[in-house]
Amino acid sequence: MKQFVSGAGSAGMYLVFARTAPEGARGVSAFLVAADADGLSFGPNEVKMGWNAQPTRQVLLDGVHVGESDRLGGEGQGFRIAMSGLDGGRLNIAASSLGGAQAALEKSVAHLLDRHAFGASLAHRQALRFRLADMHTELAAARQLVYRAARARDRDEPAATQLCAMAKRLATDTGFDVANQALQLHGGYGYLAEYGIEKIVRDLRVHQILEGTNEIMRVIVSRGLVGAES
Ligand SMILES: Cc1cc2nc3c(=O)[nH]c(=O)nc-3n(C[C@H](O)[C@H](O)[C@H](O)COP(=O)(O)OP(=O)(O)OC[C@H]3O[C@@H](n4cnc5c(N)ncnc54)[C@H](O)[C@@H]3O)c2cc1C
Repeated sequence: MKQFVSGAGSAGMYLVFARTAPEGARGVSAFLVAADADGLSFGPNEVKMGWNAQPTRQVLLDGVHVGESDRLGGEGQGFRIAMSGLDGGRLNIAASSLGGAQAALEKSVAHLLDRHAFGASLAHRQALRFRLADMHTELAAARQLVYRAARARDRDEPAATQLCAMAKRLATDTGFDVANQALQLHGGYGYLAEYGIEKIVRDLRVHQILEGTNEIMRVIVSRGLVGAES
């Protein structure tokens, strides 16, 4: 059983990593399993805080038969295939966070220009302007690191995995923080579903957890600095 699989039950094909030999990482192979394969089933769609655009379910494998023709890559290459997908997946989540947070920032600018309280537009209040400035600056900094990591991934640079982990950690923490601040700048309206900000906050929160938690991103980054933990 594999807990938490995005798109499970809706996808037509599943990439499954299975042990084909006892020895460590070299004993893992990758197989493609069609959605209608005998023995493949799914748990109920999990009820989540956000990320409701796609289902999240358990994938259950009970006596599913696979053969050589179902194998992706050579025997024993599964771990390498799995690892090669991780850096790109992390960039994907990092970029999604930047997009959601950018939308929240733009909504905040429009809202502060539009909203008048105590005789003036909120966009004239220095404390709020400074907050917008910081949100814009922090997003720009995180975006540059995501671009840098993407370049490293494209060029297969030795530091690519560390850079992708750095970018995922920074972009998802910054993205959530910016979205949360946007909610605050909207006052009570930010809490209403109608304004779309609370949805962004709920959707971005899980980016700090999935595709490797942000604690695990720190494990990867620190490993590149001081070696593996003992
Ligand atoms: C909506 C959603 C969709 C998902 N989709 C997928 C998917 O499609 N495919 C997939 O494979 N997974 C998916 N996941 C699973 C997700 O990747 C995991 O939930 C995540 O990696 C954390 O693993 P865990 O839940 O087992 O937490 P745990 O490993 O139990 O961690 C609990 C806490 O301890 C911390 N922790 C654990 N180990 C360490 C350590 N060594 N050092 C420091 N801190 C540590 C973690 O960071 C976390 O804060 C999804 C999860 C969600 C919520």
